[in-house]
Amino acid sequence: MSEQVFEWSDLPLWYMLKSHGHVAKRPDGVLARCGGPALCSECELERGYLQLLENYRRVTREKFFHDSLSLRQRELVKKHGTPAEFAQAVYKSVPGYISMTEAADAVEKYTKEFNESA
Ligand SMILES: [Zn+2]
Repeated sequence: MSEQVFEWSDLPLWYMLKSHGHVAKRPDGVLARCGGPALCSECELERGYLQLLENYRRVTREKFFHDSLSLRQRELVKKHGTPAEFAQAVYKSVPGYISMTEAADAVEKYTKEFNESA
């Protein structure tokens, strides 16, 4: 899992007081010499909590995204994925199957079509 950046203001008070600062850096700069999540149960708990928070955010973002799509956009997503997914798939074919220019053109075309279907 990639490194995530959390807003300190998202965290409840109990977390702020308990945090060892290994997983999310404490604003007061405190960093316990506990070894972090691999060795410390407090830090392990901290990491689990932050993962939950991130998952919740991701699901909420995705739900919002899908709810705000037009009928045509839903069709497009079903067929080709979101513009970001489409781009990711297309750029995987560079340079073996298509050139960078062809990929960029295809992504631009799909993004334009997607946005015009809003
Ligand atoms: Zn710790």
